[in-house]
Amino acid sequence: MEKFVQKTFPHGVHFHDNKELSKDVPLERMPAPSDVFISVSQHIGAPSSPVVAAGDKVVKGQLIAEANGGLGSKVYSSVCGEVVAIVKKAGATGAVSDHIHIKTVESEECMTLADIDKNDAQSVLQRIFEAGIVGMGGAGFPTNVKLKPSKPVDTLIINAAECEPYITCDYRLLLEKADQVIAGANYLAKACGLDNVVFGVEANKLDCAELLMQKGAKVTVLKKKYPQGAEKELIYAVNGRKVPCGGLPMDVGVIVQNVATAFAAYEAVELNKPLYERAMTVSGRGVNSPKNLIVANGTSYQDIFDFCGGLNEDALKLISGGPMMGFAFIDTSISTTKTTGSILALTKKETSLMQPSPCINCGRCARACPMNLMPMYIDFYTLAGDYDTAVKYGALNCFECGSCAFSCPAKRAIVQSVRLCKKKLKERK
Ligand code: SF4
Ligand code: SF4
Repeated sequence: MEKFVQKTFPHGVHFHDNKELSKDVPLERMPAPSDVFISVSQHIGAPSSPVVAAGDKVVKGQLIAEANGGLGSKVYSSVCGEVVAIVKKAGATGAVSDHIHIKTVESEECMTLADIDKNDAQSVLQRIFEAGIVGMGGAGFPTNVKLKPSKPVDTLIINAAECEPYITCDYRLLLEKADQVIAGANYLAKACGLDNVVFGVEANKLDCAELLMQKGAKVTVLKKKYPQGAEKELIYAVNGRKVPCGGLPMDVGVIVQNVATAFAAYEAVELNKPLYERAMTVSGRGVNSPKNLIVANGTSYQDIFDFCGGLNEDALKLISGGPMMGFAFIDTSISTTKTTGSILALTKKETSLMQPSPCINCGRCARACPMNLMPMYIDFYTLAGDYDTAVKYGALNCFECGSCAFSCPAKRAIVQSVRLCKKKLKERK
């Protein structure tokens, strides 16, 4: 453990990561479900426009929705089958979008993209757009746009911190597909003219760090601390550069991409495969058989839990994403997207049911905050309806990591306050 210098960022929190539930379970391909519901809004830009209609036959890898606007992204069918309808459905965040409902038929048929010149940076960049690749760590920002920064950059950091508890799909990708992830990272670097690629790996994945180094990749080992995988904290830990408040990684010459995104880039460039499936973790003590799966885009959470042996009677809280930054859900008909890295079923012992009590001014939230904000005041002023003062205490610089709420002995729902403040300011605009 001590043979590597472990780098990190100021503040943050430590907790048991619960990764032991799934870290030793190899990736397994889940068979296509009987129905998929594929959202046309799986990325940060304008929703994609369906190019199929009810009654159309589709095959796996076929384009089903075209990108719109500068932040648009293409959407591909994850199965062979027939389009039943285009329906409005809520996703994990509660936002409603059009979903293309496809009834699956058994078939090995599969469409791929045309060959490209893999040595040409422009062709690789265009391929990343053609394949519908977006940031798969959760943000859903179109990768081709991120790879065209408006400022000079000198480093691509591959975010292999995977600092959220329970989640192990990036870990499995790195262990099982290290060559492909490295190749994908190199294609991402080529697309933006870089040759300096660094993997940031948390110290609870030293086997991955060693494997990557053996294969010639540059690796920075990071201290196991949350939120080590947050962009600004990752950049600071890897190369000591501080992204200014309200700034972007390119302001300090860096682009950050996630492990799954690098793997998708490999598949798109080497195998001509568009993005229609992804690795994800299903975990928590409320699910009978925690697994790491390759899942077809648009698969319902219910089908995934069923494939993992179903939920046991202790399952109490369901979460899409990680327990720190994810979204609780009750409707298991929600379907996966390009950014769904995990779904969890937590038991009573794994979740806190304590009701919030008044703030005791202990300051623990401020000590935990990696952004040096004053979370207690953001919470107080938001609940008082004084959003401008909440902004003065940093509401708009908060990236909702939840470290403050985790540290709070009064169980203040600080992240909900931040989200409320941002929502109110948006409404006011
Ligand atoms: S205020 Fe925001 S950035 Fe700071 S710890 Fe809380 S959630 Fe994280
Ligand atoms: S940690 Fe909780 S109780 Fe302590 S100052 Fe922050 S909001 Fe108040």
